[in-house]
Amino acid sequence: MEEQDTPPVRKSARITHHEIKAMKVVAAKEPPALIKFFNKFKTMLSDTVSSILGIFAPKHVSSCELNGHVFPKGAWEGEFPRCSHCGQELRSTDELGTR
Ligand SMILES: [Zn+2]
Repeated sequence: MEEQDTPPVRKSARITHHEIKAMKVVAAKEPPALIKFFNKFKTMLSDTVSSILGIFAPKHVSSCELNGHVFPKGAWEGEFPRCSHCGQELRSTDELGTR
């Protein structure tokens, strides 16, 4: 059985100068891919760090949780007013701070 569909491969035995140049271009493209990977890794790492910090230091959230939310001055967009401190929707006056 002979397959006639397979293209001739022997041609690639002789590498032309143009092909070497093309190979060099491909090789030159490798470092940015590596940098991409490192950037992805760095983003993952910073996400992990920020989420860990969020667990250990939820300061800006606790300020509203302790003192209550701050009613926005003036008008607001949407159905409910949003806390001018943390931006959470205020669905009842119980969520507001006493001050
Ligand atoms: Zn708030």
